[in-house]
Amino acid sequence: MTPPTDSLAAIRRAILQGDLTAEQSTLAALHTSAAQNGTLNALITTFTQQAPEQARRIDSRLRAGEHLPLAGVPIVIKDNICLGPDFARPGDALGYGGPTTCASRILAEYHSPFTATAAQRLIDAGAIIIGKSNLDEFAMGSSTEHSAFGPTRNPHASNRVPGGSSGGSAAALAAGMCAAALGSDTGGSVRQPAALCGVVGVKPTYGRVSRWGLVAYASSLDQIGIFAHSVPDAASLLEIIAGHDPLDATSSQRPGENWSAAAAAPPPAGLLVGVPRQARTNLNHPAVSAAMRRCEDAISAAGGRIVEIDLTTTDLAVAAYYIVAAAEASSNLARFDGVRYGRRAALNDGEGLEELYRRSRAEGFGPEVKRRIMLGTHVLSSGYYDAYYLKALKVRRLIEQDFARAFAHAGCHALLMPTSPAPAFAIGEKASDPLALYLEDIYTVGVNLAGLPAISIPAGWAALPDGVLPVGVQVIAPAFNESSMFNVAGLLERSGVSRRAG
Ligand code: GLN
Repeated sequence: MTPPTDSLAAIRRAILQGDLTAEQSTLAALHTSAAQNGTLNALITTFTQQAPEQARRIDSRLRAGEHLPLAGVPIVIKDNICLGPDFARPGDALGYGGPTTCASRILAEYHSPFTATAAQRLIDAGAIIIGKSNLDEFAMGSSTEHSAFGPTRNPHASNRVPGGSSGGSAAALAAGMCAAALGSDTGGSVRQPAALCGVVGVKPTYGRVSRWGLVAYASSLDQIGIFAHSVPDAASLLEIIAGHDPLDATSSQRPGENWSAAAAAPPPAGLLVGVPRQARTNLNHPAVSAAMRRCEDAISAAGGRIVEIDLTTTDLAVAAYYIVAAAEASSNLARFDGVRYGRRAALNDGEGLEELYRRSRAEGFGPEVKRRIMLGTHVLSSGYYDAYYLKALKVRRLIEQDFARAFAHAGCHALLMPTSPAPAFAIGEKASDPLALYLEDIYTVGVNLAGLPAISIPAGWAALPDGVLPVGVQVIAPAFNESSMFNVAGLLERSGVSRRAG
């Protein structure tokens, strides 16, 4: 592995001091991408022409004295986040945005007419989008194996998955193709690949970041998230992409905060961090348990206190999530019918509209997406609605209450949990057993059902026969309290939890 592209903070410093231009930084990122992507398959589209051109425009704006907080920072965007034709040149309809494929055959040729708000805010701050990253089709999966463009590989061991569904973003960052990346987290898709690739991954509070331009998977759970090399880098990116957007009715009016300061600040007096009893199971890989112990020790050493709490709904979260997410997905994906959106199948003489829909969807969607649509329509169908969908919504409420108890009643500033029960598994290992793959999400999906913010940070390493693989832990905070989340994560990062062997 080549050394990672510099952190955002380092690039920012070098650009400010005149030691680096946006063009140089962009060319370096593109160089690493060209060298690595053949093996990793992390990027679906690379903006080899557009990105340097955009960087030169940024350089001339810098020379003219403009201040751009992300000037020359190379960034990768998950390919379910729309980039319109004007992303490099406002007003110019040359198709610079490339396709937004969602790693699906049905959208392989889809060119979005507009740019997602989160991506636009990065671009406006001077960031250079160097590519669109691979994902599980429509963000459904935990391994990036379910992509119409082939699986992404883990930069730490190329026979292993990078996690998913934002595996391309995580792998691209870990391999040094960029200084940060965007993903989406509906049920762990930023945090889990961050953990499996050894980078930082943030899932903000539901409503903190605009979903405008994010292709919907499960709208009550979806949230755009951030991958970065460090906690302060992630905090400073959230400052840029967060905030109300009139184009997304669910985006919150709450103003952002100085999360970079929170990430660097000492912990509050009386810091109390909860560890769910249900997450201390021997089903966790030993390296994950060791990482948890190291983090608990680091918090105690910094003057904080660890309390054991109960998240009794932990075992129910996966079942509730896969019902709610599939139900919403089956409805959201109805628009891909070959007429409103998506690749249209060829028809034979005499075949009608229904056949057009049927064949376009049959040819366009991969097997996992079809499974979710069938699950979703089943749990919503009359006769099953009460038994599945309604019950899942009730469990969702219990999960919210479980977290609320830990924060409000037990007084925890944050909770600490593994991100994933184990390090990255081998490509193909869980391919024939969808349930085994769903169970990977045990620690991540509850956070989405409750709408909370959470961050995964690298917390150590697992020595496996074919490589040394990273493991992550996550810090979960009350809704809209990203400050606590960054504060505890910053403390753990500074204590060096990621450096020691697991
Ligand atoms: N693994 C989960 C799923 O397949 C999470 C996906 C996500 O967060 N986009 O639904």
